[in-house]
Amino acid sequence: NTKTAALQKLDSAHYLHPFTDHKDLASKGARIITRGEGVYVWDTEGNKILDGMSGLWCVNMGYGQTELVEAATQQMTVLPFYNSFFNTSVEPAIELAALLAEITPPQFNHVFYSSSGSESNDTILRMVRRYWDIKGEKQRKTIISRKNGYHGSTVAGASLGGMTGMHEQGDLPIPGIVHIEQPYFREVVKDHPELKDLSEDEFGVLAAGWLEEKILEVGADKVAAFIGEPVQGAGGVIIPPKTYWPEIQRICDKYGILLISDEVICGFGRLGTWFGCETMGTKPDFMTFAKGVTSGYIPLGGAMVSDRVVDVLYQDGDFNHGYTYSGHPVACAVAVANIKLMQKLDLVNRVKNDTGPYLKQAFESLNDHPLVADAKTEGMVAGLVMLKDKANNTPFDDDDNVGMICRGHCFDNGLVMRAVGDRMIIAPPLVISHAEIDELVRLARLALDATWADLKAKN
Ligand code: PLP
Repeated sequence: NTKTAALQKLDSAHYLHPFTDHKDLASKGARIITRGEGVYVWDTEGNKILDGMSGLWCVNMGYGQTELVEAATQQMTVLPFYNSFFNTSVEPAIELAALLAEITPPQFNHVFYSSSGSESNDTILRMVRRYWDIKGEKQRKTIISRKNGYHGSTVAGASLGGMTGMHEQGDLPIPGIVHIEQPYFREVVKDHPELKDLSEDEFGVLAAGWLEEKILEVGADKVAAFIGEPVQGAGGVIIPPKTYWPEIQRICDKYGILLISDEVICGFGRLGTWFGCETMGTKPDFMTFAKGVTSGYIPLGGAMVSDRVVDVLYQDGDFNHGYTYSGHPVACAVAVANIKLMQKLDLVNRVKNDTGPYLKQAFESLNDHPLVADAKTEGMVAGLVMLKDKANNTPFDDDDNVGMICRGHCFDNGLVMRAVGDRMIIAPPLVISHAEIDELVRLARLALDATWADLKAKN
């Protein structure tokens, strides 16, 4: 319609989008989303779309939650902003800090606020180095991270992340950040076919062992911390073997290295526990979060800092770090309302015992599709890989563009599913019902069928 066309024209003339090919955008025009309700959004053309990605892994409570809107309105009316610098504080930030101390694992009783996941990870980088400095081990500067991990788009965030496409733009990573291989069996076996007969559990231990190798290579007394997402999200929902994280924890403990759990996606119930580290069985020193803390209704991020770090970092004077919007009262008020609503609905247990298992059986049924292998879920995230020749385990080539083809069919069928190379991934709102899960998987199968038909026609 004409409204869509006019908006698309302005959009491509003036709006620089994140992670977007602008030539492509100009030729096709953006799909402009105008409203949402529950797990659905609508575009300017009136199409109803099932949001299988919760916006961008964040709208965990779904759209149209009036309690969150009211919390924001109320706080904006009373006090839209005041800062927490120089011995001042604001009520919602205090209330949220206490609530976070209650719902996070016992080692966490303190939070540092930011407005995003990227800022939260930047905060940690400075905190970790400051911690070792105060401890008299200034040489412990190196942070070990993983290839294909995602920790944000700021200079430190993109450096901690392991996306080569991001490193190439802007001369990253910054010094002192090194990466090890991710725990993705299928990818690793491409380069190391001799490993193909390992069991999942054996592979998990092997993959964690790359951390120890890297520690020894760098020098154990120079390593400050290890950072990872419990489940790598943007990298393609890489669910690690059950043995992986406990082994990572053991290695960090052995060398006295701080463990950072990036909970930006996995935090706030996504894996069926309040935080992903609880599902994975680790006891991190830091947890960074954002997204789900407010269900994306307003930007807020932060870092939970464990008692043993707080005791060192704040024992003497200040830590010169903070953002104008650290502890923003409106964002914190929305977060409090969001967490209380999650508690009222017993949402985390629902993901663990009800909707998570339901999604598992529904989504993993896609494994019978001729294109699909490794369809797998953990709580409310899921991913699958598409194969060129399933019988012979042959992967697609990059220029087959299979993910983009499938994503297009999903969109045309009214489903948002994300493509990462040859993987299709979802992270639906945690409030999704059984009927909506059935609908999601039905639409995904239709898109896979259409992709299969396209590929057959091409060859
Ligand atoms: N960490 C993880 C695991 C993420 O998935 C993201 C964003 O997707 C970030 C950090 C960065 O968060 P933000 O985009 O809020 O800066």
